[in-house]
Amino acid sequence: MPQINMNMVLGTAFGTWLMWKMTSPADNAREVTWQGFRTSLLDKGIVDRLTVVNRNRVRVHLRPEAGSLGVSPQQTFVFSIGSIESFERKLEEAQNELGIPSNERIPVAYRDEISIFQTALHFAPTLLLIGVLYYITKRGAGGAGGQGIFGIGKSRAKMFNQETDVKVKFKNVAGADEAKEEIMEFVKFLKNPAAYERLGARLPRGAILSGPPGTGKTLLAKATAGEAGVPFLSVSGSEFVEMFVGVGPSRVRDLFATAKKNAPCIIFVDEIDAIGKARGKGGHMGGNDERESTLNQLLVEMDGFNSDEHVVVLAGTNRPDVLDPALMRPGRFDRHIAIDRPDIGGRAQIFMVHLKPIKTTEDMERLSRKLAALTPGFSGADIHNVCNEAALIAARHHKDSVTEVDFEQAIERVIAGLEKKSRVLSPEEKKTVAYHEAGHAVAGWYLQYADPLLKVSIIPRGVAALGYAQYLPKDQYLYSTKQLMDRMCMTLGGRVSEQIFFDTITTGAQDDLQKVTKIAYAQVSTYGMNEKVGPLSFHDPNSEQQFQKPFSEQTGTLIDDEVRKLVNGAYTRTVQLLTEKKGDVEKVAKLLLEKEVITREDMENLLGRRPFVEKTVYDEYVRRKEVSSPPPFPESKPNDGEVNST
Ligand code: ADP
Ligand code: ZN
Repeated sequence: MPQINMNMVLGTAFGTWLMWKMTSPADNAREVTWQGFRTSLLDKGIVDRLTVVNRNRVRVHLRPEAGSLGVSPQQTFVFSIGSIESFERKLEEAQNELGIPSNERIPVAYRDEISIFQTALHFAPTLLLIGVLYYITKRGAGGAGGQGIFGIGKSRAKMFNQETDVKVKFKNVAGADEAKEEIMEFVKFLKNPAAYERLGARLPRGAILSGPPGTGKTLLAKATAGEAGVPFLSVSGSEFVEMFVGVGPSRVRDLFATAKKNAPCIIFVDEIDAIGKARGKGGHMGGNDERESTLNQLLVEMDGFNSDEHVVVLAGTNRPDVLDPALMRPGRFDRHIAIDRPDIGGRAQIFMVHLKPIKTTEDMERLSRKLAALTPGFSGADIHNVCNEAALIAARHHKDSVTEVDFEQAIERVIAGLEKKSRVLSPEEKKTVAYHEAGHAVAGWYLQYADPLLKVSIIPRGVAALGYAQYLPKDQYLYSTKQLMDRMCMTLGGRVSEQIFFDTITTGAQDDLQKVTKIAYAQVSTYGMNEKVGPLSFHDPNSEQQFQKPFSEQTGTLIDDEVRKLVNGAYTRTVQLLTEKKGDVEKVAKLLLEKEVITREDMENLLGRRPFVEKTVYDEYVRRKEVSSPPPFPESKPNDGEVNST
């Protein structure tokens, strides 16, 4: 902001000048003390007259005779006085002592002179206030571009013109077929409103896109604009929440005014939960009136425009559960489109999209399928990130094209963070980590419902502080008690192994224990999987700010007891299992210490195949496709029920 810099420069210059003005005596008067004045001027009889300036300084003017004493008569002297009264008294006494007759006494004049410094000081608070206000309004106006104080209420929506910017089409959004289908209706409407209006249909005003971060909500909204060939106005909900009262509503008003001017168009409000939280919630803390009035204004605007204005409002959120029900009323956001994290098929398609710009000699289709199998739980944004990281890794090694290994490293990096080469473990610590991870691996190996293992590593990484075991979970939406039990045991395997081999435990298992506790509490209090507690679920997603538990104290105690029983049971079972397989844990740990990273093949070589029919997602999805050469990729329907069998 050049203005601010300019102000600062000017301000500094002014201040410096003031300081100089203040410290340098006016019109080269020489500063003296009262004693100095008395002995070298007054007693010598060369003082012509005195002027008291501003009641605190005295200027001494000399007689022409001063010249004979070596002092220029033009030279003036000044000295400070405490008060006029004491000065007058002292002067009187001095003249009495010198025996100056009353008619020859030195005349004293009184003057008020306006000191620039003091004037400035007077106005300083006002100036400061004006300066601060000016600064804030400048800043508040932000990108609105030099509209000063009047720009503060302007919406900061960025305009995307359809010719230049919205190049995103549905083909850039992989997977999410249902969402696309739903949103297609808006595209058709924006392209040809007459067809609908002819039949008297009132068109939906808007849709809420909900889903975890990075699942492509913004992308989909943009693609809708791109498909329909209309401008796209995007704004984040948090931008409406400012420190000034009334700014939010005014920005909403402005946003809609802009939209109407550009109709037909699409408004996209990201993070709508920032303003759209249910009103009156969290009232204990003193509700946010500003937010409420912003929300009200949004509702008013949405009610206010006629459907012949052809403005569609899309909103994104990852907390649909906290939204005010008023938002969902017909005529407002009456469509609710949930976008979930992609399943394996969706991931493969997203990989296809983001592999396109990557230079690789691998077979794209096979690669994307394989990578999809390796990345359960990844969102579209994560996948984009993996592709980018892979290219970076390849570039770092001066390769000419990105290979499969680079992608695998990139996935590992996205999951667990960077390798921490600088973190050096002592040999003892390393041994503990190896036995801990071996415990996880072996426990999982012999538990029927545990996820298949992909690799175990004891290289310290960003997230998994010391080591980690990577599994290949299925995209699964329902878990049975048996599966949860096996998962708990596998998670406890690390701690149990430490106990068996070292007869002592370390702090390394904290994360595991937290996970186990969570699973156990969920089973007992959310999924109704405990006999004593019964088929009750106390989980209420809306009760975030509730401090009271939705059950009695007795039930609370019961839940705690049952959870403890459950976890202790799992622990005992794991101890039994690993004591039985002690030799296997030892073998795996030794190999880990030697190689630092071991894969599923290494495990198979050591322990033989898992004693269960194991069908990993990878086998099912990648190998099956390879055998029965599939139709060209996008047409193949990957999620045909076999993969995410529920
Ligand atoms: P959200 O708004 O849901 O947080 P975004 O729409 O900003 O997520 O997505 C972030 C990035 O993730 C996109 O720019 C895109 O690169 C990638 N992405 C997410 N979902 C998809 C998808 N279905 N197809 C292709 N890319 C996707
Ligand atoms: Zn662990």
